[in-house]
Amino acid sequence: MYKTHTCGELRSAHIGQAVTLAGWVHRQRDHGGVTFIDLRDRYGLVQIVGDPALPGLEVIQDARQEWVLQISGEVRRRPAGAENPNLATGEIEVEVKQCQVLNPSKPLPFLINKDEDIDENVRLKYRYLDLRRERMQKNMVLRHKVIKFMRDYLSEREFIEVETPFLFKTTPEGARDFLVPSRMQPGTFYALPQSPQQLKQLLMVAGVDRYFQIARCMRDEDLRGDRQLEFTQLDLEMSFVERDDVLDLVEGLFTDMVKQILPEKRLLASPWPRLTHAEAVERYGSDKPDMRFGMEVYNLGDIFAGSDFRVFQMALESGGVIKCIVAPGCSEYTRKEVDALTEFAKTQGAKGLATLALSAEGVRGTAQKFIKPEEVEAIQQRTGAKTGDLVLFVADSNSVANKTLSALRLLFRDKLNLADPNLLAFAWVVDFPMFEWSEEEQKWDAAHHPFTMPKMEDLPKFETDPGQILSDAYDMVLNGYETASGSIRIHRSDIQHKVFELLGLKDEEIQSKFGHLIEAFEYGAPPHGGMAPGIDRLVMIFADEPNIREVIAFPKNQAGRDVMAEAPSPASERQLQELHIRVVEPEKSDK
Ligand code: ASP
Repeated sequence: MYKTHTCGELRSAHIGQAVTLAGWVHRQRDHGGVTFIDLRDRYGLVQIVGDPALPGLEVIQDARQEWVLQISGEVRRRPAGAENPNLATGEIEVEVKQCQVLNPSKPLPFLINKDEDIDENVRLKYRYLDLRRERMQKNMVLRHKVIKFMRDYLSEREFIEVETPFLFKTTPEGARDFLVPSRMQPGTFYALPQSPQQLKQLLMVAGVDRYFQIARCMRDEDLRGDRQLEFTQLDLEMSFVERDDVLDLVEGLFTDMVKQILPEKRLLASPWPRLTHAEAVERYGSDKPDMRFGMEVYNLGDIFAGSDFRVFQMALESGGVIKCIVAPGCSEYTRKEVDALTEFAKTQGAKGLATLALSAEGVRGTAQKFIKPEEVEAIQQRTGAKTGDLVLFVADSNSVANKTLSALRLLFRDKLNLADPNLLAFAWVVDFPMFEWSEEEQKWDAAHHPFTMPKMEDLPKFETDPGQILSDAYDMVLNGYETASGSIRIHRSDIQHKVFELLGLKDEEIQSKFGHLIEAFEYGAPPHGGMAPGIDRLVMIFADEPNIREVIAFPKNQAGRDVMAEAPSPASERQLQELHIRVVEPEKSDK
C-alpha cells in the first residue's frame, strides 16, 4: 500500500496514529536542525517534520520541490503558536519515521507553489506541471462537477447519452472542416464534425426521443480568447417539443447546477429574462448582452432630426443612425482619455466618437458646440444622463454604431467595475433572423445553421425578402458571452431543400452532401429541437477565468499548436504514401 491517507485529510482526530503518505514536495525548509516539508497531493497539503540526522532520514534534507516522497510517521499536534488556520490540516503535523524517494525531479521551469504570471507557452509546454498548480486543479475539479451534474440531471429526465462518430461528413456550423484522408479509399476524406448536429437529428428520426452527449466539436477557424480548434458541448436534442420545452429544460438544469455546485454565485433573475434578437440588439447593441449592468444603448435619430451638426446630418441622410451610451461619473475625463476612447471606437469600425460631458460647471466635450441646449435636455430625458456623466455618440451605419457602442459598454464595465463577478446573468435571446447576407461572398448564409426551422408564417418571404425571415433559433447568453445556441429543426424534406437552395446549393450538391438527411426526413421524422451549451465557456465563466484554455487540460495555444507534444507535425513519407497524399509546400513569400 503506497499510502494510508491523503495529504489533505489529516485532522486533530488523527493525532497519535501511524500513517503513510505519498505526494510531492510543495515546499521544503530547514529550521534549527529540523526539516519541514509541505507534502502535497490532489487533496491538500500536510506538514511533515523530521530530523535529518536520524538514520534513514538524510534524504528529507536533500528533497527538492516536486520530488515524490513516501513517508511514514506519526500524526501529532503542532506546538502551540505553530498552527496554521489557513490550512485544513493546520492543527497537526506528521513526524517522519521513514522516508523513501519515489522519484526526484529536475529543477522546475516555473514554481508550482506560487500563483505567478508565467509565459503561457512555457505553461503549455510543461502542461503536466502547470496542471499541478492549485488553480488548475480547482478548474479541473469544477469542470468534472459541471459535466457530472449535466449527466445526472439529464439521465434523471429520460435522456440517454449516445456517442456519434468523429469520422463523418461535413456538418456545417459556419467554420472550415478538418479533413481526414481515407487510406482505404484513396482521394476521399472524412470530415470531423463541427458538431453532432445532423447525427442527433438522425437519432430523433430513430426514435431516441431524448438524447445528449458530452460532445467534442472540431472547427478549423482562427482562434480568439474564447475559442479552440476543438471544444466540448453538452449536445442535446428532444423530439415532440416546442421552443419553450427546450428552454425550460436547460434553464432548470443551470439554475439547479448553480445552486448545487456554485454556492458563491448568484443568479441575476429567475426565471431568466427573455429578449427577442431585435430587442437585444436595440437595447444593448449586441445579441449577447452582459445584463449584469445597465448602460443601455439609445437611439437619438429623432432628437437630432433637425441637427446642425454636419456629422450627425450626414449619418442620418445616408440611412445611418445616431446612438449613444452614458458612462456614469465620467464627465471629468481628460482630453487624453477621450482620445483613447475615440481610438478604441475606430478599432470597432466607427469613423469617430462624439462626446458630451455633463460636468458640474456646464456642458463640455467634442460635440458640445454642435448640440443645442434643448437637444441636451432631450438626451437627458431619454437616457437618464445626469450631471457628472459622459455621453458617447456614434453616428454611423446601424451595425457599426451597435458594434462600437456595445464594445464601449464592455470597456466601461471593466474600467468602472460595473459588473459583479459573482452574479450570473443568464438570459435567453430568441427569434433570430434565419439568414444573414454575406457581403464578402454576395450570398445568404444561415445565421445559426441550415437545419434551423424558419418561422412558419415567414415561409412566403423565401421568395420576396429572405433577410426578414425569422427562425426558431435561440441563444443562451451569460455575462456577455454566447454560451449556447439551439433551435427547433426542420423535419420536413421540402423545407430543408428550400433552405439549402436559398443558401446557394445546387441540387447535386444538396444530394451529395445532405441526401441522407433529406431522405431520413421522408421516413416519419418527428418534430424536434435542441441546443448545445458550450462547456468550456461556461466553466470559464464559473471559474472566473479570462479564457477557455484555463479550463481545458491540454489546450492548443493561440496559434493552434500543442506546444507540449509539438502538434501539428509533419507526417512520414511512408504515411503520406499510404494515404496517397503529396504535400505541396506553400510558396515562401519574399517578405
Ligand atoms: N449544433 C449547434 C451548434 O453547435 C447547436 C444546436 O443547434 O443544437 O451550435
